[in-house]
Amino acid sequence: LFRLLPFITQLNSARGALANSAASVEIANDFLRRDNKPFMGNGSVTYKPLQEGIHFNQISFGYPSQADMVLKDVDLYLPKGTTLALVGSSGAGKSTLADLLPRFYDPTIGSINIDGTDLREFDVKTLRREMGIVSQDTFLFNTTVRNNIAYARPDATDEEVTAAAKRANAYEFIMGLPKGFDTLIGDRGVLLSGGQRQRLAIARALVQDPDILILDEATSALDTVSERLVQAAIEELSRSRTTLVIAHRLSTVQKANQIAVLDKGRVVEVGTHRELLSKGGFYARLYEMQFSQQPQGISTYHEEIRN
Ligand code: ADP
Ligand code: MG
Repeated sequence: LFRLLPFITQLNSARGALANSAASVEIANDFLRRDNKPFMGNGSVTYKPLQEGIHFNQISFGYPSQADMVLKDVDLYLPKGTTLALVGSSGAGKSTLADLLPRFYDPTIGSINIDGTDLREFDVKTLRREMGIVSQDTFLFNTTVRNNIAYARPDATDEEVTAAAKRANAYEFIMGLPKGFDTLIGDRGVLLSGGQRQRLAIARALVQDPDILILDEATSALDTVSERLVQAAIEELSRSRTTLVIAHRLSTVQKANQIAVLDKGRVVEVGTHRELLSKGGFYARLYEMQFSQQPQGISTYHEEIRN
């Protein structure tokens, strides 16, 4: 769904222009209705940098097309500047919960409050400007590396773009491309590896410099070198930023201030890595099943926790 973000943004700003064409409006309305989009309920409050934290306040959520609730009574608090990792099996509701923050969907019951203000009260454009999203299937545009990195802030200077690329561990591979930052990528351009795409996405988020970061880590294993580079870049990006991460990497999970375990839409456990392991419950089992089988770069980490 994160892939839709550029489309949604475009749609939002293009709504006036679209009004001329009945067909386009029909498509747009259908799109909005089907995905329960919030434009009908846009608020007027300008988003201001986070002071305290984000409260998922007794949320339940069901997709419009489905009878069942996909999220049930979720209550979580994410204090400013900290990281909350979501873990759980596939289909547990992790991506759905993350999608509620930029208001791709609104909770069916309950509310999400930022410093006490319901998300629905914010002007969604000002809200999304301060939310950086780095997902597994990063959307790259058919344009240059530079434009892709500067996507959220087209006025960014070359120095800013270069600095972000360096911090994201992307600079070296970019300089190795035929035309460096002017190389065309995307469908009609140079093919990039998964790790390279992720590092471009991280560079993009660094240029955006959002208040709140939403990360959906890749499930597929990258090669060890790429894995380390991506990991380091993510740490750079999330440092002292309020972060919600759908965590598949053990190192991310372990470093998170809080881990919430989701099972069939419910939060079944919340705590730190150590707390949850020693509890011997759901997380401990998940850890055995999921994380203990992770490849190289990550198994080094197993040794670290034993020490
Ligand atoms: P996770 O990210 O933990 O794997 P998801 O949030 O993607 O889980 O999915 C939770 C549940 O919601 C699943 O049962 C999934 O099939 C369902 N679901 C996800 N996206 C949609 C959608 N757009 N419409 C209807 N159901 C969906
Ligand atoms: Mg998911």
